[in-house]
Amino acid sequence: MDYLYIEDLKNALLEASWMIEKSEPQLTELDIKVGDGDHGYGMKAGFSALRDMLMRTEYEEVSDLYKSAGIELLRTMGGASGVIFGTMFTAGCRDLPSGGRIDADAYLLFFEHALEAIMRRGRAKPGDRTMLDALNGAVSSMRETRKSTRDMAELLRAGASGALSGMEATKNMIPQKGRSKNFSTQALGCPDPGAVSVSIIFQAFADSIEAGENTR
Ligand code: ADP
Ligand code: MG
Repeated sequence: MDYLYIEDLKNALLEASWMIEKSEPQLTELDIKVGDGDHGYGMKAGFSALRDMLMRTEYEEVSDLYKSAGIELLRTMGGASGVIFGTMFTAGCRDLPSGGRIDADAYLLFFEHALEAIMRRGRAKPGDRTMLDALNGAVSSMRETRKSTRDMAELLRAGASGALSGMEATKNMIPQKGRSKNFSTQALGCPDPGAVSVSIIFQAFADSIEAGENTR
């Protein structure tokens, strides 16, 4: 499958919304351990609003889909993580090719822009124990996979596995940014909540694209 179409991308976002909503208790529990306990609530609020918006809106341009998704998260989640997760979808929009489909190079570039923009905004980098560790894991793994294939399902499966490894690695990191900085070594053994969210999102994307592929 060389391209993903608007409908595939929309279904992937809907699957991610379901999975984030279902994971609210897990995200809350993690943020109680290493933050202020609001991550699950914020993510659930943002992604359920996103789901409602997607169900009632039709898009013709991939860039419009992702731009409105990011703005909806920003608007409904609020706070630092609203900006962070909103930027994950808005930052790469300006360089998306116009039209209703996307290929592997454009999708990789989209997430590379997201990574750079979140690093710039939050003044954090991979290794600081944030959602960036999972996003960087996803981007690195997709970049490697793109060298040997253009297949979108393989690209996203690689993204999901890279995000999972990046998330797992946060268990051994001492927080440098955000509220969990106050928890220092107490955070060891527990993954960063934002990194868990990113891993859930990429897992849902990969599952949804694979399921879509099987019904074509
Ligand atoms: P808050 O920190 O405002 O309570 P949340 O609890 O919703 O917001 O989100 C916390 C998550 O945000 C952390 O687990 C981490 O992944 C992410 N985060 C915090 N600061 C940064 C930053 N500067 N850059 C990237 N991600 C960050
Ligand atoms: Mg919090």
